[in-house]
Amino acid sequence: MSENTGLAPPKSPPIRLTREIVNAGFKQRVNELSGQHMDACYQCGNCSSGCPLAQEMDILPSRVMRLVQLGQSDDIINGGTIWICASCFQCTVRCPKGIDIQAVMDALRQIAMEEGVDHFGPDQISPELAASVPQPGLVGVYRKLAT
Ligand code: SF4
Ligand code: SF4
Repeated sequence: MSENTGLAPPKSPPIRLTREIVNAGFKQRVNELSGQHMDACYQCGNCSSGCPLAQEMDILPSRVMRLVQLGQSDDIINGGTIWICASCFQCTVRCPKGIDIQAVMDALRQIAMEEGVDHFGPDQISPELAASVPQPGLVGVYRKLAT
């Protein structure tokens, strides 16, 4: 396998289309929570190409959008992308369809928390680390946890 030399993440799970893993209500739930229409996405990739954290993600933002369209919730909810997202809004301002992708990420984090999926919590931050981490970083973490 070749080394990762571009913007693509080291790995990106294949999209599997089987009846057993399609979550029929997932897209509708994301639509409701985010106030966005997931079917508006036409997979141009602008969100992924502008995301400053794309290389750290296991699933690119545009791929997240496609997986939601297809009702494939497991890879998103159990993956790291929604927690790595820094809510910077870069994807949102780049989307030619006017989709607020950051709001979609917020909705997905809310769904993950509703389902009790483990995530990084304040109790995992030691006092020593909290003293050394930049304040905006901590605020970003707590903002995610409060969605
Ligand atoms: S809001 Fe999240 S997904 Fe969108 S560009 Fe910023 S880090 Fe990437
Ligand atoms: S920029 Fe918008 S239309 Fe393009 S892939 Fe991302 S969400 Fe879809």
